[in-house]
Parts: sequence; C-alpha cells; structure tokens
Amino acid sequence: MKAALFVGVNAPISVEDVEPIPPGPRDVVLRIGASGVCHSDLSLVDGTLPFPPPAILGHEGAGTVEAVGSDVTSVKVGDRVVSSFIASCGECWYCGHELPFVCSETMSIHTKLHARRRDGTELPSLGGLGTMAELMTVDERLVVPVESDLPDEQLALIGCGVTTGVGAVLNTAQVKPGSSVAVIGCGGVGQSVVQGARIAGAERIIAIDPVELKRKTAATLGATDLVDPADSDPLAAVRDLTGGRGADYVFEVVGTPALVTQAIDMTRSAGTTVLIGVMKMTENITYHGLTFTYGGKHLVSSFGGSADPRRDFPKYVQMVEDGDITLDAMVSRRYKLDEVNDAFAATAAGEVLRAVLM
Ligand SMILES: [Zn+2]
Ligand SMILES: [Zn+2]
Repeated sequence: MKAALFVGVNAPISVEDVEPIPPGPRDVVLRIGASGVCHSDLSLVDGTLPFPPPAILGHEGAGTVEAVGSDVTSVKVGDRVVSSFIASCGECWYCGHELPFVCSETMSIHTKLHARRRDGTELPSLGGLGTMAELMTVDERLVVPVESDLPDEQLALIGCGVTTGVGAVLNTAQVKPGSSVAVIGCGGVGQSVVQGARIAGAERIIAIDPVELKRKTAATLGATDLVDPADSDPLAAVRDLTGGRGADYVFEVVGTPALVTQAIDMTRSAGTTVLIGVMKMTENITYHGLTFTYGGKHLVSSFGGSADPRRDFPKYVQMVEDGDITLDAMVSRRYKLDEVNDAFAATAAGEVLRAVLM
C-alpha cells in the first residue's frame, strides 16, 4: 500500500509502497477515505515536534473498516470510523476518572508498529495512527465508529481539529453563555474554537489572525469581531472590545511563548486563558509572577479538547449534521496522496484552513 513518510527534518515527504504488518488480535484495518493535514504533521516535518524518522504521517482521518483481529469487539467490517489519537484504554486510572485524554496507556498504544518499509525498516506513526496512507492497521482503541452520511473529508476533521477546538471550549473551559472569547490563531483548530464559542452562547467572539482568508472564514462561522495583528495591537483591540477589561476567555492556538504572554494579558482579571498551540520542545513559558497572582486568572492547557472520543465524536457528528458545526468552509483544498508535499506547502504558507488528502 502507498503511504506518505516523514524521512527527515525538512526533507520532502516520500510517498512510497510499504508493507502492512499483519493485524494483531486487537487491531483493525481501515481503508482511509480522507486525511486532514494538521499543523502537528507539519511540526513533525519541520522539526518542531522531535520524532525519529522514518514514520507514517497523519493523525486526522476517516475511513471504513476492512478487516478486524480476532478479539476486536468495538467495530466490525464495513463500519465507518473516525481515527482518534486519544487512546482511551478504558482501564487505567485516568480512563476510570473520565480523563481518557491523558490515558496512561497512550504511549504503549501509540508506539505499536504497523508497517515496514520495503527494506524492512519498521514504521511508527504520528499519534499511533498514520492516516496518510491507503490502508491503516491500528489498535481498535484508536478508532471510533460513527453512523453518518457525511463525507469522509468532513468526518476526518473530527479526529483532531474539531475535537481539539470545540472540545477546548465545551469541555476544558466550559465557556458560559453571554461570555466574551478571544481566539489567537484561526486555522482549522482556531475555527473550531470560534464555532465552539458560538455553540456555547458566547456573545462576543474576537478572531485574531494575520491571514485575511482565516479572518473572513471566522466571520462566517460565528466571530463577531476580527483583528488583524499586523494592522493593530491585538491586546489593545481586545481590551477596547471588552470594556477595557480583557476577554472572559482567551484561547491561544498558535503555540509561541510571546503569544502565551499576550493571551494571559488579554484575559480579564479572574478570567481563563486556555493554551492549545503546540510549542517547540526547546521553549518555556514565563510570566511576571506578581501580575499573574494579583490577576486571579486561570491558566489551563487543553490537550485533544479534553475529549472522551467515544462520547464526543458521535456528538460532534450530530452537531455537523444539525448544522451547528460547519465543516465544508474549513476544507479549503483537496489533494491526492501523491500531492502530499503540495498540501504541506499550502498549509505551511497559511493558504488553507485545512488541506485534505483523499
Ligand atoms: Zn492534529
Ligand atoms: Zn486509559
């Protein structure tokens, strides 16, 4: 089968024939219908997220079950599924305390090997998945069955972008109706934060992004105010829009120390700053301690939208079907697997909200 391989930092992605390892008792084989290009895939290729090459790319996908191992109980051949990088083993302490997004079995499930290169080299994958391939053999705990007629390109986005963004609003921050929300960075995840804020009943949703396409799209998805940080100071702009206080909730979706500082500054006293953006391995966050303590602010991180995939994925599918979450505006361009380098280049250049490989 064909797969898109990360073969070295900043090296072109290699699309090549690889050999799937025969599925184990708890594995399922999926035929991938669509795979979104998430910024974390880019972070692997540009070295932001250290990962030893080679590896199969892709952690946001949807497809159909083609085969199942002897002990698989959660899905059957023919089921449509969405992939999940949240492992949720269902048995560890965290899974038993409704915190499956930090499941302690994550590493052991993510590091299972499922394919080899022609020369025999074993291939791990991002998030234990590897959706940028024709077929994907994965642990059944990394797929969630969904009943829907939505196209794969939309279902795929639920696997990461939607769940991370909408979940950060509804699960992590639990934004209250009537609130003010600022979103720093409006790619696929940021647009999902905007939509989550609208669903939560936020009154003022301020979308901040230097790219016009992203601001315009945010306006169609629920943003009430748009700020171009190249044009005006976003901190001053958000304070102006919130009676001088700052926003009740600020979501940082880019992942740089400077923007984290800005996000905390932008949050009103006793408000909540939510960190979603993935930072470089070498970077730390610092903030003026006295100012932070006196502000009484809440600083939280949201990993995977604090999701319970088995609870949340079907819920998000229903929200898309009901028109509460709009995904067609988020799929900017479609590419064939062979065109993966073009899809990554467009994502890196900020030309797309989501490029999808089909
Ligand atoms: Zn992702
Ligand atoms: Zn667990």
